[in-house]
Amino acid sequence: MAEPSNLRIVPLVDQRARSIPVGSLAADPRTSSAEQASLTDRLGRPLRDLRISVTDRCNFRCSYCMPKDVFDKDYQYLPQTALLNFEEITRLTRQFVAQGVQKIRLTGGEPLLRKNLEILVAQLAALRTPEGQPLDLTLTTNGSLLAKKAKALKDAGLQRVTVSLDGLDDAVFRRMNDVDFPVADVLRGIEAAQAVGLGPIKVNMVVKRGTNEQQILAMARHFKGTGIVLRFIEYMDVGATNGWRMDEVMPSAEVIRLLQTEWPMLPLEHAQRGETAQRWGYANAEGLHDPAAGEIGVISSVTQAFCSDCNRARLSTEGQLYLCLFASQGYDLRSLLRDGSPDEQLAAAIRKIWHQRSEQYSALRSALPPGSMSQGRRVEMSYIGG
Ligand code: SAM
Ligand code: SF4
Ligand code: SF4
Repeated sequence: MAEPSNLRIVPLVDQRARSIPVGSLAADPRTSSAEQASLTDRLGRPLRDLRISVTDRCNFRCSYCMPKDVFDKDYQYLPQTALLNFEEITRLTRQFVAQGVQKIRLTGGEPLLRKNLEILVAQLAALRTPEGQPLDLTLTTNGSLLAKKAKALKDAGLQRVTVSLDGLDDAVFRRMNDVDFPVADVLRGIEAAQAVGLGPIKVNMVVKRGTNEQQILAMARHFKGTGIVLRFIEYMDVGATNGWRMDEVMPSAEVIRLLQTEWPMLPLEHAQRGETAQRWGYANAEGLHDPAAGEIGVISSVTQAFCSDCNRARLSTEGQLYLCLFASQGYDLRSLLRDGSPDEQLAAAIRKIWHQRSEQYSALRSALPPGSMSQGRRVEMSYIGG
């Protein structure tokens, strides 16, 4: 396979204006024909999950992600020409799928702000794994435009959605999205998604102590028995703009203890390797999981690292490949797409980058004394998606 000669690393200090050419990555002695068959990184992790950010814009200003004082009216978003177009995204995704990716998540920013997204969904839905299987194709959204778009997305081949919702109380929710968006409209979006069969639906709630932890039980009550899986996410120190503080993190163990004051719950097996959420089921009178009542998930990104199984890569809106949510630099695949490089070169670049991957930010953070990890120059969640 041809060696990519023009890969660049893009430093986050100025993600959108400057690329540092790296010539080629150091030669990887493991790229033997045996290695070609099963692509793994330096820690033995396969590449299975690709998250694609389709826009860096959003109509919400959640303070933990795009705080208003940074993402204000003067903030310079990427120009249209910088964004990968749908053909570029599909071409690149085809190469990722050939290297083992089975699951695609469209994200952002707010992905439903990207015009004609259903056209991209249809293109991606047509892709097949080397074994001939369709991809697990999903999308994460704040739900604000879902009522309007659910049917078109389903018709285009989207399988399911994850909707972010940080509370049911309208005042709390409006404060958290910081654009005064009403909770009723998001709930309508979830209903529309359910009605057209975009499921199983997951609802993600970021828990920020002092802001919305009083919404935990209300959210669990609301979604219990609906077939929708509610997941509580620890507030993470992603990016460099949200002013993250450990005392605003509510550990998942505490969330579970709180839920157990109302319902008996029991831990469930992981559905698949590399899954980010730990699953807990509502128990019946015999102490067994009651499938009709359903389950919840907790994503303990801060208190319990799950890097050892992390099989996720992230493609930014402008085609930079990030190997970790906490990365400070990305690999410039867009230049390969736009300089006429053939597909084999794209494939070789993906293999090479993944072979060299050793990122495990959360695991290292857990092993180090509090406060000793660098907080600077990290990619923003709205740029690479969650
Ligand atoms: N706008 C869409 C949404 O909100 O679902 C998709 C992009 S958003 C960046 C993806 C996910 O990241 C959301 O579920 C959001 O709650 C989560 N997220 C953003 N910042 C976070 C943080 N600091 N800690 C934990 N989760 C975060
Ligand atoms: Fe927008 Fe999603 Fe970030 Fe909230 S979490 S600001 S909805 S991108
Ligand atoms: Fe994966 Fe990085 Fe998160 Fe660890 S910190 S689970 S390597 S994205």
